[in-house]
Amino acid sequence: MEEFYGIDLGTTNSCIAIIDEDDSVTVVTNMEGQLTTPSVVAYDEDGTPYVGTAAKANMANDPERTVSFIKREMSNDDYRRRIGNININPIDVSAEILKKLVGDANQKRQDEEGKDPINKVVITVPAYFGNAERTRTMEAGKRAGLEVISLINEPTAAALSFGIKNKQNRTILVYDLGGGTFDVSIMKIRNGVMDTLATNGNHQLGGVDWDEKLADYVLQKENFNVTCNDLKANDMATYGSLVIGAEDAKKILTTKEKTTLRYNYKGVHNTEITREEFEDLTAELMGMTDQIIDVAMEMAGNPKIDDVLLVGGSSRMPMVKSFVEKKFGVTPRVFEPDLAVAKGAALYAAQEEKGYTEVGIQLGNDKGSASYGVAAYVGGKEMVCNLILMNDDLCVNKSFDEFCTRADGQTSVHIAFYESRVNEDVCELYMAQLLQEGDIEWGRPVPKGTPLKYVVERGKDGIIKVHAEIQGRSADFEINTKGIAKG
Ligand code: AMP
Repeated sequence: MEEFYGIDLGTTNSCIAIIDEDDSVTVVTNMEGQLTTPSVVAYDEDGTPYVGTAAKANMANDPERTVSFIKREMSNDDYRRRIGNININPIDVSAEILKKLVGDANQKRQDEEGKDPINKVVITVPAYFGNAERTRTMEAGKRAGLEVISLINEPTAAALSFGIKNKQNRTILVYDLGGGTFDVSIMKIRNGVMDTLATNGNHQLGGVDWDEKLADYVLQKENFNVTCNDLKANDMATYGSLVIGAEDAKKILTTKEKTTLRYNYKGVHNTEITREEFEDLTAELMGMTDQIIDVAMEMAGNPKIDDVLLVGGSSRMPMVKSFVEKKFGVTPRVFEPDLAVAKGAALYAAQEEKGYTEVGIQLGNDKGSASYGVAAYVGGKEMVCNLILMNDDLCVNKSFDEFCTRADGQTSVHIAFYESRVNEDVCELYMAQLLQEGDIEWGRPVPKGTPLKYVVERGKDGIIKVHAEIQGRSADFEINTKGIAKG
């Protein structure tokens, strides 16, 4: 069987998996012998990047040359960082992480089994990722020299992995709380096929927010009139060491009732913290996940949930388990929180490319995560008319004939394409983000009401193409990648 890698390109840690000849899906350890690799990149004085544990260790000593949580910046058009003589952006940093994962895995194949390197991969993305983040993830794969067969949503990959051992008909909710993102997906498994009913999330909510709340709390407990955000802006070294200390304390509170956070800010401090205090001060963050789940449940038609699957490192916190038990009346399954996503991606790659059906359940319909539309006048006001809705199936191909010119004598139309989190046919402009715009011109004046046709298409990787056509002229958008091309 041809082989492929599945890669979980995580906010905090990344992981790579493969299906071996015995049909078992396994995670490949990195050259340091670890199953997961910290998604941290540091740059030497001469600009040479290094990735993983060594880079993470550099974070406290040399934060200026170290980059972490880059996945949170994938949506940020303006993110640029200068380290020494080089400029980096989120695509460059993500490409370095991918190179490390695939490079180490290939090296191990060669050293241990004399096997050829692999460069075909499926990469996972939060279901919540919009078009820009997806195209940048694809680009990072290409820049790392990889052939990205497809992207797959992380909760979908986790559920596929879960389905290897659990093939019964069930409705499952995947609660995925990672280091920097939260995703929830609701899936239905029927007769060996899994469909996604709904998905929702927030890519600015994850374990690091729990760390920062804890760090703020200890600063406040010691009566320092400063917050994590202040330190982040003015004193990166203290911020780095405090947040790393808070993360360690948080992990200890997963198994112990209390711990001490030791940190250095105007002297060394040892601040005691109990699990109860920690749960109280982060209750608001748990509430945010609750609201996101409620929206997903409503979109899915409020089905009865048979199983809740916890993935993402932060779902180990006891507060997550008790929250789920209270909300759904089921004991959640903690299912390889660090590895399930990469394994599901490897399985998906084999299913997609090779029609591989020997292991687990097959993926039916997946969902997108945002709505996409064009600006148009509705009742005299410029609004966004959504062509793809948040809860539409991932693979869509739709055409629209109801749009037209609004004044006599027009010789051009302006096309503006928007993304939003509004699951309605029409929404206000301010609720949406402009992704791309351009004009179609045809020269000869036409009467008001001349038809303007749109065709939108989204494939399995979640990337959208739009075709707009009027008076024999057309414009094609590959959103956020190549800009507008006229025909
Ligand atoms: P991921 O992005 O899925 O790798 O998740 C990483 C996040 O999980 C980080 O915020 C970690 O601090 C958090 N995490 C890992 N282990 C634990 C644990 N035992 N208790 C609480 N949080 C954890």
